[in-house]
Amino acid sequence: MSNLDWGNLGFGYRQTNQRYVSNFKNGAWDAGTMTTDDTVTISECAGVLQYCQACFEGLKAYRTEDGRIVTFRPDLNAARMADSAKRLEMPVFPEDRFIEAVKQVVAANKDFVPPYGSGATLYLRPYMFGSSPVIGVKPAEEYQFRMFCTPVGPYFKGGAKPITIRVCDYDRAAPHGTGHIKAGLNYAMSLHAIVEAHNEGFDENMYLDAATRTKVEETGGANFLFVTKDNKVVTPKSDSILPSITRRSLMYVAKEYCGLEVEEREVFFDEVENFVECGLCGTAAVISPVGKINDHGREIVMQNGSTEMGPITKKLYDTLTGIQMGRIEAPEGWIMEIK
Ligand SMILES: *Cc1c(COP(=O)(O)O)cnc(C)c1O
Repeated sequence: MSNLDWGNLGFGYRQTNQRYVSNFKNGAWDAGTMTTDDTVTISECAGVLQYCQACFEGLKAYRTEDGRIVTFRPDLNAARMADSAKRLEMPVFPEDRFIEAVKQVVAANKDFVPPYGSGATLYLRPYMFGSSPVIGVKPAEEYQFRMFCTPVGPYFKGGAKPITIRVCDYDRAAPHGTGHIKAGLNYAMSLHAIVEAHNEGFDENMYLDAATRTKVEETGGANFLFVTKDNKVVTPKSDSILPSITRRSLMYVAKEYCGLEVEEREVFFDEVENFVECGLCGTAAVISPVGKINDHGREIVMQNGSTEMGPITKKLYDTLTGIQMGRIEAPEGWIMEIK
């Protein structure tokens, strides 16, 4: 195992041994290969550089209590990347080959899978981009698919402290736009809003629906979960939010493992003050508890979660991370072991 200070890694890029690369040319993907080359060389006029034709995914490999290395639902990442590619007029990287690449990348970088109990994990970043020159606006003819990995530290050092977010005056995604796919372009336009939020002392932005600004969507990179006074777990339904795999898994866990009532439906911002817990879900943190939501100076405080993670959020967090780390039996097909 690599000699890293696992408990103190941040969420940043660290070069590892090998990554997977496949190129799309003349209408077909090549066989793909592992490489030690951590650089990309492309035309100065590549489609990705001019018109942002790119999409990505994010998933993790974990070391279980009994020392195995596993990944969590990589088939859903493969399927979501196919959806992203189609929406951006990119060729789909075959889903079975995506899974194969996950296996190869993790196997080639086993030294970087952090030990069980360190809180650290190996983060995998699959992505693809238009690599051939494009100057008139159209899809590129050639593409590159890559998947690298980098060890990342525990998201919460010293426990999960609830964060404070603000209602954002910028929009994240238009109705019928690209909010539901994992495209870098959705992030480029969120950077100004997040830098501004940080400058004002907030951790994240809560985006509302762009059309009516009355409904809760998501943050720049995580979906919302709310808990009602009577312990129902509620998540916003919208065609312009990214279908988080963590959120979908947590809703299943809430119902099937914790016996809670769950609802995926439109959530009006006016209702938020009635919820007692709030969390942000995504691969990076699983759930980040939200303690306070600031609406232009008016503070909404989560009754059961303003100083520490609320009890329902904690139960969901412990159950899902237990499944991921092999302490709790997983539903069929959720865990893929890497040999
Ligand atoms: C990736 C992402 C999420 C979280 O999805 P997971 O599959 O749970 O990691 C949520 N929102 C946005 C906008 C994202 O890009």
